[in-house]
Amino acid sequence: MSKHKNLIPLSIPNIDDNEYKYLKECLDSGWVSSAGPFVDRFEKAVAGYTGAKYAVSCINGTAGLFIALKLSGIKYNDEVIVPTVSFIAPINTVRYTGGQPVFMDCDDYLNLDVDKFSRFCEKECVLTKNGLKNKRSARIIKAVMPVHVFGNPCNMEAIMKIAKKFRLKVIEDATESLGAYYTKGAYRNRFTGTIGDFGVYSFNGNKIITAAGGGMIVTGNKNLAERAKYLTNQAKDDPINAVHNEVGYNFRLSSLQAALGISQLEKLNSFIKIKKINYGLYKEELKGMEGLEVLGIPDGTIPNYWFYSLIIEKEKYGCDRKKLMLELASKGIETRPLWYLCHMQRPYLKNQAYSITRAFWFWNRVLNIPCSTNLTENQVRKVALTIGELKETIWKS
Ligand SMILES: *Cc1c(COP(=O)(O)O)cnc(C)c1O
Repeated sequence: MSKHKNLIPLSIPNIDDNEYKYLKECLDSGWVSSAGPFVDRFEKAVAGYTGAKYAVSCINGTAGLFIALKLSGIKYNDEVIVPTVSFIAPINTVRYTGGQPVFMDCDDYLNLDVDKFSRFCEKECVLTKNGLKNKRSARIIKAVMPVHVFGNPCNMEAIMKIAKKFRLKVIEDATESLGAYYTKGAYRNRFTGTIGDFGVYSFNGNKIITAAGGGMIVTGNKNLAERAKYLTNQAKDDPINAVHNEVGYNFRLSSLQAALGISQLEKLNSFIKIKKINYGLYKEELKGMEGLEVLGIPDGTIPNYWFYSLIIEKEKYGCDRKKLMLELASKGIETRPLWYLCHMQRPYLKNQAYSITRAFWFWNRVLNIPCSTNLTENQVRKVALTIGELKETIWKS
């Protein structure tokens, strides 16, 4: 499906007749902007799929996270616990509210390290009548924002316990993990995004399903869902006379996007199935290769297999990740390293980062390989074969 015949891209959308069908229906109806039935249908469909009580669509996942933080009461100088291993967007949304992020390390699955998170709250903070006070900054920590990195579910059972104990709101960044769920424990059969006070999904072009951009805020709280709808729709108190009692935002999703989202959501299960098969195929093809491992899956969870991460150990594999990325690129195979760690990004150099060690280890070793749902079996084999050949020919000699 790629425009570039011999190129194997990292992650691209999978569009077929279904999208044309829904887009045509939308265009024919004349409802292309935010009014009309499509947005509502998409919201109901996402709520239906995930089992979330309420779903409110918005312009993108970043806007959704910002609204969720706002509705969790994050204000100027409040602190929010975030992972350093993440795309930058959720961290930035903390700053949009005037709040400050406090960075945590990752676990073996690149998700928030719950042991360090717990230790931080226990040792570095004190519970006061105003909430959890950070001893170093003297600011109140109001929330934690775990990110289900690459579609692997976080340890929500631990996170919810710690959050309850220390009176923190929980905003799940489930932008990468739509369709991932738990098979064990307190949240058995619950989807990522539906456990915290809020969860947010993204329909950006590189996510597991796309609406050509777009986001969805989910919550179990009716009042908060209504507030989210209100704030993302310009805070209209009287739409006829244009009365607005609060500062609202124009964060609405368009019907065209919703139509695309509806058609893509119908295929989510088949996408996850393909992703799982390709994950297994990669694992099998790369098995036993020295210095190279495919990132695993947390016990008691079913991921959505959004991204596949390789862990490259330079000493054993024969070259570092950067060189491997360039070599693969020269053969038309697109890969990406793990994000530059958030606590090292320029706007956040002054923010607190608590005992970060494992994140550095992964940061130097993780390489994400092609994972689109329209990847063919031959392409998966080609990627694996090329990785094996490069090891043999270039650096072993
Ligand atoms: C994609 C992504 C976002 C932002 O979603 P958009 O819809 O692109 O705004 C937020 N957090 C993470 C971890 C993401 O991967």
